[in-house]
Amino acid sequence: MAYQFLVWFQGISIAAVFVTLVMFFPSWKNRIHSYLFIFAASVTVNNIGYFIVMISDNITDSLWGTKIEYLGKLFISASLLFFMTEYTGAKISQYTKRIVAILHALIGVLVFTCEHHMMYYESFKFVEDGLFPHIEFVHGIFYYIYIMMVAGYLIYATASAIHIMMREHRKKRKRQATLIIVCGLVMAAGLIVYSTGIMGGYDATGISYLICLVLMIIATIKYDILAALDAVKNYIADNMTEGIVAVDTEGAIIYSNKIAEHIYPELKEKNEGVITLLTEAIEKEEVINIKKSYYRARQNDLKNDSKILGKLYVIDDITEEYNHNEELRLRSITDGMTGLFNRTETLRRIEEAMTGEGVALVMIDIDNFKVVNDSFGHDVGDNVIKGVAKIMLELTYIDPKLSAGRWGGEEFMLVMPGSDAQEALSAAEKIRVGFAETKFDYAGTRTVSLGVTVYIDGEDSDTLCKRADEALYTSKQEGKNRTTVM
Ligand code: GH3
Ligand code: MG
Ligand code: MG
Repeated sequence: MAYQFLVWFQGISIAAVFVTLVMFFPSWKNRIHSYLFIFAASVTVNNIGYFIVMISDNITDSLWGTKIEYLGKLFISASLLFFMTEYTGAKISQYTKRIVAILHALIGVLVFTCEHHMMYYESFKFVEDGLFPHIEFVHGIFYYIYIMMVAGYLIYATASAIHIMMREHRKKRKRQATLIIVCGLVMAAGLIVYSTGIMGGYDATGISYLICLVLMIIATIKYDILAALDAVKNYIADNMTEGIVAVDTEGAIIYSNKIAEHIYPELKEKNEGVITLLTEAIEKEEVINIKKSYYRARQNDLKNDSKILGKLYVIDDITEEYNHNEELRLRSITDGMTGLFNRTETLRRIEEAMTGEGVALVMIDIDNFKVVNDSFGHDVGDNVIKGVAKIMLELTYIDPKLSAGRWGGEEFMLVMPGSDAQEALSAAEKIRVGFAETKFDYAGTRTVSLGVTVYIDGEDSDTLCKRADEALYTSKQEGKNRTTVM
């Protein structure tokens, strides 16, 4: 009676798994699908083999049934391992996969040639007792190796799923991982029942495979739905204008969107140095400058029902705003015609240097400039003014500590922080000579007069600038085209 039932069960299960295969998997969408497909196909082969074992009445047929059954078993265990690890995202290297494949192939060969050696089955004899006539095997060393391998897979894959479940905060993902844990447990239970032989020679693993297959199908459908939801979330996150980086409560990076990975490519390797940089910029309220782009970062708690799961870093691209502000700022401190600093900014820089390491000033005025304007017009005059600016700017390129300012119409000021009278005189002479050697359209060659002075501790900027002006006035008095130090 029990035998009849089990034969029917075996026969129906073959048909059921086959139909499942055809119905559920017209196409493979991902690796999960392919592993499930291999699993189901292998269960079919296993059940056909066992069906032959159950109905055969002689040792030859029964042994062939066993061999076919094994053909399925080997793929069942490997595909279950791959399915479970793929599902939980547990790491399994290509190298390990190769070893698994080689060992399984070896077991397959040993089972198929078992009449000729004692490596998988030490001996076997056909017995008429039990549920049905079957072969009783005494197992050899490779049988135990195989059982240990499969037990190892199950423990590894189940442990990975448990690990995922414990770390996972999302309820749906937690339930998903639970399904996979149950898969591992069901398979282990089948293996234990089989190896203890308590079912009178009946191989209970067939039943555990079927239960597993059902669980795997449910898990796959759930996986697909959640994978689709993840895809939606990723799509939204990747099409935001902000970069997003999430870290867990231990500070490990758990997510970064494409924008964030574009800004910091090292995020792809989950480089936590980025988090240090972001935290620092947020604390100091600094703008982050990477190449020609500017970013501002902010940080929020990552929460789920008031439970803190980690931190969320949001990175805004503020390049346009930054450049706009920078342009406004520059415009407010520079003179449009010459590109030199305007008088306000020049004075600010003088006063800044006075509080620091001291400062020397070179004040410059073009000689007989009215004549240029009167003889050749304002445009020619402007051009001569730009000529002085050009020479001053060249000096500031060589020594970025210097600032060149337009003090008035055709008056200029070179601010030299930390310089003494000697250095200032040398700079003044460079300007004077450089300018005298410049040839202008219409205006020809012109000259400038200069006044040099150095800040005296305690005086105010007004006194300092007046002294530079006096030095310049002296140069004018003494015949122009010269420098006076005062
Ligand atoms: P000095 O040698 O004594 O300096 O004689 P100067 O003719 O150069 O006299 P001053 O320095 O007083 O000349 C100032 C003139 O500069 C008056 C003004 O018309 C002219 N000026 C001021 N700003 C500009 C400007 O932006 N463009 C032009 N073309 N001329 C300007
Ligand atoms: Mg003047
Ligand atoms: Mg002048």
